[in-house]
Amino acid sequence: MGILDGKTALVFGVANKRSIAWGIVEAFLREGATVGISYAGEVLEKRVFPLAQEAGIDFVEQCDVTSDEQIAATFAKARERFGTIDVLVHSIAYAPGEDLGGRFRDVSREGFKLALDISAYSLIPLARHAAEMMPNGGSIMALSYYAAEKVVPRYNVMAIAKAALENIVRYLAADLGPQGVRVNALSPGPIKTLAAAGVPGFRTMLKYSEKITPLRSQITQEDVGNVAVFLASDWGRQVTGETIYIDGGYHVLGLTVTEEDFED
Ligand code: NAD
Repeated sequence: MGILDGKTALVFGVANKRSIAWGIVEAFLREGATVGISYAGEVLEKRVFPLAQEAGIDFVEQCDVTSDEQIAATFAKARERFGTIDVLVHSIAYAPGEDLGGRFRDVSREGFKLALDISAYSLIPLARHAAEMMPNGGSIMALSYYAAEKVVPRYNVMAIAKAALENIVRYLAADLGPQGVRVNALSPGPIKTLAAAGVPGFRTMLKYSEKITPLRSQITQEDVGNVAVFLASDWGRQVTGETIYIDGGYHVLGLTVTEEDFED
């Protein structure tokens, strides 16, 4: 018996087996859910299909979230295949390399538009389509990061996108709450993935976080998957509009020095 027995989830954002989305898929499958996945870009096909096949997933759809047509087509196929769903996961982000790192004041208009479109706006149409397939209520979640709230060097345009994403989560929670659909953000600490490799200096962030977090943690895809299971399950039924940190407690720190760093 899994705690997601009888539930169906659609997960957007699987690029490879290191993707946070894949950690969530594995946790959902372990807990008995039926899972469909979506990915972007033909180059990812050769990684995503074998993964899905190995896990026994037979709903695998390509969807570029900058296209309303592709979003509509993906949900039409999901409706045909599943009828209704209970869970939607948005684990998608993109920003042009030149707008990550460098000086914040140099963020370009085009980079801003693209990063906000893919990493934040896309949650709105995905949630709208998903909610139409949730007659019995459901759970929607999106992946954020602490840079939404506090300055994290080099995160630049993506930090603005995450701030927008977290506010979209709150507005969707209010909008979809009356039909029993919950909407939350998951905010993990740094995890080595394809997207993370695009953030200049990511290895330093990873090392520093592990040294400084109260739990001295290196966050894993499985850690995120387990919290996603809780939110997807009926145990999370009164939780909505929330940002849930999976960061070993990093976000509670006011001064990021350890006891060993003091010199006086
Ligand atoms: P990832 O590269 O595995 O996942 C990013 C996904 O976004 C990929 O599957 C990619 O195909 C997808 N994507 C990009 N442009 C798209 C488009 N136009 N249409 C559809 N999909 C598109 O990396 P990840 O680290 O697993 O990232 C997943 C989410 O987790 C992102 O929102 C990221 O910001 C967030 N996050 C990551 C970390 C971390 O340290 N890795 C920490 C906090 C939050």
